[in-house]
Amino acid sequence: MTLIVQKYGGTSVADCARIEHVADKVCAARRAGHDLVVVVSAMAGETDRLLGLGKSISQRPSAREMDVLLSTGEQVTIALLAIALEKRGFPARSFTGAQVCIRTDKEHSKARIESIDDGKLRASLAGNCVPVVAGFQGVDESGDVTTLGRGGSDTTAVALAAALKADECQIYTDVDGVYTTDPRMVPEARRLARVTFEEMLELASLGSKVLQIRAVEFAGKYNVPLRVLSTFKEGEGTLITYEDVTMEAAVVSGIAFNRDEAEITLIGIQDEPGAAYHILGPISDANIVVDMIVQNVAREGRLDFTFTIHRNDYAQAMEILEANLKRMGAKRVIGNDRVVKISLVGVGMRSHSGVATRLFQALSEEGISIRLVATSEIKISVVVDEKHLETGVRALHAAFRLHEPPQQEHLPQPATAPVRQGGAVG
Ligand code: ASP
Ligand code: MG
Repeated sequence: MTLIVQKYGGTSVADCARIEHVADKVCAARRAGHDLVVVVSAMAGETDRLLGLGKSISQRPSAREMDVLLSTGEQVTIALLAIALEKRGFPARSFTGAQVCIRTDKEHSKARIESIDDGKLRASLAGNCVPVVAGFQGVDESGDVTTLGRGGSDTTAVALAAALKADECQIYTDVDGVYTTDPRMVPEARRLARVTFEEMLELASLGSKVLQIRAVEFAGKYNVPLRVLSTFKEGEGTLITYEDVTMEAAVVSGIAFNRDEAEITLIGIQDEPGAAYHILGPISDANIVVDMIVQNVAREGRLDFTFTIHRNDYAQAMEILEANLKRMGAKRVIGNDRVVKISLVGVGMRSHSGVATRLFQALSEEGISIRLVATSEIKISVVVDEKHLETGVRALHAAFRLHEPPQQEHLPQPATAPVRQGGAVG
């Protein structure tokens, strides 16, 4: 007997016909002998619609009331799915976050889960009944409804899977897995059979918006095997787990990219302690997030200092720096807000050399010049002119042969034959 938490996103429950389709899938999994807990999102577009209603009455509605309002979206879909399951002869019971004691802090609209009391869910499972739980919502210590931030149903599902020590947490969505890169840009992009939590965090934060990042962090922390699958197309999806030591890791798993980058360079900074601090201090005081930072060694007491930020923050950052040039001991500041970042991600980079060289070669063959480079253990990022984005991603996808499955990839099976992952769940 295996226990699976299945989560269905907004497009999967967008209307009653789709909810009936989800009910069919849940019944099939029950017939296959699995215990199931189901988490659902609100119908596609519903959370935005509710947000709009609140904002149409007040520009600054109270966060408490907005959470009461937004949490109603999921209350509709849990009831409808439970009705559809019962119609099919499968006992089911809907639960709000409060009813299954998903306790959070008091941070309305971005609450964090503190604890879950699994008693109700276990009792429901013991009674052969499928619990259908509202995603995205919880309750604080005073009994007020809270919500977990946009996309938060993913986190609900992972948290329930961790609390129940489930064998797998399956996220059903409208794409059939995580791809080597965006298939809209590279038609040869391939679905990854598996990817590690670390890689997924890099791919997610760099734009592969399949899963809420917090849910991936949570799953990694509690070692919950996560699988992304399509509601509408049969398949094994992508399994996200820890690195499997029996498997030769692909050197590069995927290519992520960010379109909206800007780079700023301070020229002729005086080389003295605190130089970087004096540049970036005022930037972070303005709540501007800095991504890459590149500084070269000083020559004749002077150095150049470059960093990247989101394009939306560019004008403000330039203004701050212009105003501070003297204090920073800089000669001038130059910037470019027409740049993009391309990143190669792969845990196999840790044990392979030559990845950067191959990247440089592939880009040079396309006549693309690299503006900045930064590396970590499992990632190499380059900043290039925005006009080179597509050519660059395609060239790298081909150079690293990402369209071909890695040779040693052993294909993990989906829930019909799950592997129990030991570890610190709970
Ligand atoms: N319904 C919420 C949202 O649209 C939560 C979710 O779907 O995960 O953000
Ligand atoms: Mg989502």
